[in-house]
Amino acid sequence: MDFELLERTLGDRGEPAYRARQVWEWAARGVAGFEQMTNVPASLRELLAAEVPFSSLTLADEAHSSDGTIKALFRTGDGHPVEAVLMRYRDGRRSICVSSQSGCPLTCSFCATGAMRFGRNLTAGEILDQALHFRRLEPVDHLVFMGMGEPMLNLDNVLAAARRLPDVGITHRRTTISTVGWLPGLTRFVDQVEQPIRLALSLHAADPRLRSQLMLVNDRYPLDTVLAECRRYFELRHRKVYVEYVMLNGVNDSTEQARELAGLLDPAIFKVNLIPYNPTGLDNKGPGYNGSSRDAISAFKHVLDKARLPSTVRLTRGRDIAAACGQLAATRISA
Ligand code: SAH
Repeated sequence: MDFELLERTLGDRGEPAYRARQVWEWAARGVAGFEQMTNVPASLRELLAAEVPFSSLTLADEAHSSDGTIKALFRTGDGHPVEAVLMRYRDGRRSICVSSQSGCPLTCSFCATGAMRFGRNLTAGEILDQALHFRRLEPVDHLVFMGMGEPMLNLDNVLAAARRLPDVGITHRRTTISTVGWLPGLTRFVDQVEQPIRLALSLHAADPRLRSQLMLVNDRYPLDTVLAECRRYFELRHRKVYVEYVMLNGVNDSTEQARELAGLLDPAIFKVNLIPYNPTGLDNKGPGYNGSSRDAISAFKHVLDKARLPSTVRLTRGRDIAAACGQLAATRISA
């Protein structure tokens, strides 16, 4: 929902200040429209239905995976594509992966979003509307900013959205912001954000030269400075930083590279998430990566285990509908 438009519309009618809050609380609880907001006067509900679009996004397509994952493709009012994913786990956890931008200006060589055209930053309302879309389906409890875009390039809107998430059922502790290490945003996040929102860093290589090949941004913001900010986050918030490491066959998955990684990261501060690479279908444009074998992933993890660096291997969800990590690029289902 466009909160500015909502507040303006209510203000123009001379409505009391608590009305906007009332409307938001209904939306956050997953109602389908203004007509269901029974403590709002009927005439006002009608006016809002006529003047304020209930969502700032229109659903363009939705794909359902055999594992229960749902991917939604939306369009903003001005036509930009936005994708979000709902992941359902056996233990009952419901996790939403949202986009912070339409497309992404960064061009990480293995990521499908990086290969599509950058649109623009999303507003807080557009970010929340992705979560509300799924909240209308069922209760949700986790959210990660791991869809399209770099959250630290759109930090104000990302935080404005994150601050409202507890009303939707997602506490700050269950909210994660993932970054490539975009330093200006990261520094502000560490300095200013008091809520216990989790920080995740996309690392992918311990060796700076290799990391620069995978992620151009590494040339701009050197890894040691980025890691120092992560340590500062840990000292201030007492929460571990999650490190994302996508496993690329023959590129960053040797046991030697695992030792390098273990040497770089303090086990008291970092926890590693090994991510099986998901084919993006962009091999003709990119260098044509292949995912590491299961054996290579276990051997890599074994080295981390021996070094007592905590790690997990990420469950792949929604691969059959191109909803898995790094596959969000709207061209595919909009084509
Ligand atoms: N720009 C932020 C937020 C996006 S998170 C960031 O990069 O952290 C998206 C995560 O998916 C990142 O960790 C990214 O490295 C990972 N990813 C990208 N492409 C992938 C692919 N093809 N397979 C698996 N993971 C991928």
